Amino acid sequence: RFASTKYDVVVIGGGPGGYVAAIKAAQLGFNTACVEKRGALGGTCLNVGCIPSKSLLNNSHLYHQIKHDSAHRGIAINGEVSVDFPKLIEAKDKAVKTLTGGIELLFKKNKVTYIKGEGSFVDEKNLKVKPIDGGEEQDIEADHFIVATGSEPTPFPGIEIDEERIVTSTGILSLKEIPKRLSIIGGGIIGLEMASVYSRLGTEVTVIEFSPAIGAGMDAEVAKQSQKLLAKQGLNFKLGTKVTSGVRDGEVVKIEVENVKSGKKEELEADVLLVAIGRRPYTEGLNLEAAGLEVDNRGRLIIDDQYRTKHEHIRVIGDVTFGPMLAHKAEEEGIAAAEYIKHGHGHVNYGNIPSVMYTHPEVAWVGLNEEQLKEQGIKYKVGKFPFIANSRAKTNLDTDGFVKFIADAETQRVLGVHIIGPNAGEMIAEAGLALEYGASTEDIARTCHAHPTLSEAFKEAALGTFDKTINF
Ligand code: FAD
Repeated sequence: RFASTKYDVVVIGGGPGGYVAAIKAAQLGFNTACVEKRGALGGTCLNVGCIPSKSLLNNSHLYHQIKHDSAHRGIAINGEVSVDFPKLIEAKDKAVKTLTGGIELLFKKNKVTYIKGEGSFVDEKNLKVKPIDGGEEQDIEADHFIVATGSEPTPFPGIEIDEERIVTSTGILSLKEIPKRLSIIGGGIIGLEMASVYSRLGTEVTVIEFSPAIGAGMDAEVAKQSQKLLAKQGLNFKLGTKVTSGVRDGEVVKIEVENVKSGKKEELEADVLLVAIGRRPYTEGLNLEAAGLEVDNRGRLIIDDQYRTKHEHIRVIGDVTFGPMLAHKAEEEGIAAAEYIKHGHGHVNYGNIPSVMYTHPEVAWVGLNEEQLKEQGIKYKVGKFPFIANSRAKTNLDTDGFVKFIADAETQRVLGVHIIGPNAGEMIAEAGLALEYGASTEDIARTCHAHPTLSEAFKEAALGTFDKTINF
């Protein structure tokens, strides 16, 4: 056994939280290592999450648009337009590979030591690393640890995943062929994005959701509109419905569901069943006990407001602890954790973490929604502007959706922005900036926005909270 190697900072997990923390720590002058067991950097997000799902979403959208939305644009298709599914998957894999490789280069550039193996605490100062290539175990000592081990799909009690016919988000991203029928348990963002992909490719998709609405966390009005538009695109919804069993029977999956209110039972059949009911923190193999680290009743590592566990030198960030399970949230925490170690202060505004659903149209929001404001008894005003009245959206023949501003009734301070429409995910960045600077809706309405752009709808919706809109 080799003598232990000592680092200033050791990051466990190379996902968006961990790799960003490692780069930042190195940039701040610390001798830093990042331990990752997957064999590739980028974590869930790059390997089996954000990036592969967006590749499939983008290319399936292009296909669908070319096939079904071309003629009235003056584009005549004279040959056959069809999907080459293995190529579609290959394009996704290529995007993933380029990006994960890119992080390795960033590690080299910033002098972060990349250790390929599984990290496991020996005690609160020492980590044992089992290399993925089966070589000798390595002992590592560090002044500071940042735990960023992420999350995994939450299993559905009684339903056995085989990643072939009954799949998680990981399996659905690497199917061998396009299923004829796909059932999805869970009408959250991951479920609906995958529903969109396969529906565009010709699959008959059914989304089964326990609660009466889709898109957990969305403003209710936006969620309703999104569901309406997705249904128009051909998705079947079974809301207020619980799944009571899901079993593979040869090449099909038999699913039993029950209406939550009426108790009415129904049997469904699908070629593939996707279980997408959420994610849970992942700490397997980390040997938390040896370091005396504690988790709450949902498996989240317990930390204070500086990401510290009960040992001040062990910090935790990303999906494995509190807060929304989003890549950009993990990244922000990665930066802040490194800064806390160096300077004793860091910054993440948890009231300003955007969410995006990359369906078409996209849905994006940041800040509070109407339901939350009512609950908190805060008086507010709403301003709305539909894309049907926006010149660019009209020109692009892409007019579904609206921008909705919620502002404080007295001060007009922006409290929340909810967008359903083309490019909502890009447009929400402006709302984030407004929230961060404590802008009022008048500040936005008086800011000159380029014409003709979709962002003029953003400006007009802001105007709508305190004055008449011009174009609607
Ligand atoms: P992870 O990305 O999960 O990384 C943790 C890493 O730690 C893993 O690579 C794991 O192998 C490694 N690890 C774990 N234990 C050990 C150990 N003991 N030793 C060494 N290594 C270890 N978020 C968005 O913001 N936008 C999106 O569009 C989006 N789309 C998504 C789509 C899907 C299908 C899924 C599943 C998720 C999506 N997410 C999205 C969520 C996003 O992927 C996560 O929030 C993000 O990856 C969390 O980052 P993390 O660094 O905390 O953890």
